[in-house]
Amino acid sequence: MGDYVPLLSALVALLLGLAAGKAWERYKLHEGRWIDRRKARQSPHYIQGLNFLANNQIDHAIEELGQAAHVDAEAAEIHMILGNLYREKGQVGRAIEIHQRVLQRPRLTKLEHTYGLLCLGVDFRRAGFVDRAREAFAEVLRLDPSNEHALLNLQRLHEDQRQWDEAYRIRQHLVQEEVRGAEDRHQEIQAFLENELGLEAVKRQDTTAAIRSFERAIERAPSVLPPYLHLGDVQHRLGQVAAAVATWERFIDAAPDRAYLAFDRLSAAYTALGDPYRFEALCRRLMQTQPQDWRARVALGRHLAAHGASSAAFDVLLSALRNNPHALSVHQVIWETLMQLDLDRARVRRYMEQSQNAVFYRDPHICLRCRYRSDELLWRCPHCHEWNSFVEDRLSPAKERDEVAT
Ligand SMILES: [Zn+2]
Repeated sequence: MGDYVPLLSALVALLLGLAAGKAWERYKLHEGRWIDRRKARQSPHYIQGLNFLANNQIDHAIEELGQAAHVDAEAAEIHMILGNLYREKGQVGRAIEIHQRVLQRPRLTKLEHTYGLLCLGVDFRRAGFVDRAREAFAEVLRLDPSNEHALLNLQRLHEDQRQWDEAYRIRQHLVQEEVRGAEDRHQEIQAFLENELGLEAVKRQDTTAAIRSFERAIERAPSVLPPYLHLGDVQHRLGQVAAAVATWERFIDAAPDRAYLAFDRLSAAYTALGDPYRFEALCRRLMQTQPQDWRARVALGRHLAAHGASSAAFDVLLSALRNNPHALSVHQVIWETLMQLDLDRARVRRYMEQSQNAVFYRDPHICLRCRYRSDELLWRCPHCHEWNSFVEDRLSPAKERDEVAT
């Protein structure tokens, strides 16, 4: 049910928007007579329907709005909303039928016509009719060139088809129109699209274009992270190890809580530069500024173990376990280190005492917009298609009695 929330608030806004847009034409000349168009909206069914809609009770909302539509068969916006609700219930065929019927009405206002086409386009997109969806949205834009919903839907259609160029162009158009007002979010999404363009350039081995795209993305929205990683990768492949290191370090400055995404890269690069101690210093700095950063502890433990300091590694790893007893990777590294220490009995006992209450869990990453869960960090949600919407779900840390001094 949670999936409906963003959609339904949009639906309610649309419904109220249409109603407000038509306030000026409360009375309408219909077959030679002035009729009061507020009839349907004054019906108790309409208000009930809105209430159910706001409470995510789709079936009840359909029932009440259906009644309201009977009171005034002219009320096109109520039919459009009904169609949308059927679509959200998965009855896309029925939604298409309703929206097409609305569009066949002879006396639609331009606003009603535009919204009807928009609804139909979303139906087609949901049903997988890409071409018909694109046509519908193009028609909406012909009537209303800066229609935000149509532009966003077209952008998503292109993204689904991995047509990053077209998606980027539409996004630029949205920025120019300042349709959404949320300037930062625009810049962020554009940076993600530039990042995709950069990756395509990497694929066709056009290094110059790739670097240009990644740099432009970073400049546009320094908080968007993948371009740093990929820019560093290109520099690294070109043999510019110091430049790559500088890029990845900028990445960590931009997002210390995601530093782990650059750990393997930096660890290898520091070693290549003949300065492996820099990695240890980096991990310790992160542990100091973010005491709960268990990944920096695991990385440091692994690094120390690889350089023969198994005993120091074990202590650091145990502190990682205290911060996150739920991640399987921590236990695996600890067992590797214990093996290096010939399964030293005292240490094995310390480990067992501390891991008693560990619960393993998967899919800790969660989309803030639609609650989709994923094992790995994703930059674009496969369910609601939002960019940069994932956070990491955290379980509570181990109980205090499990704590050991580090
Ligand atoms: Zn999502």
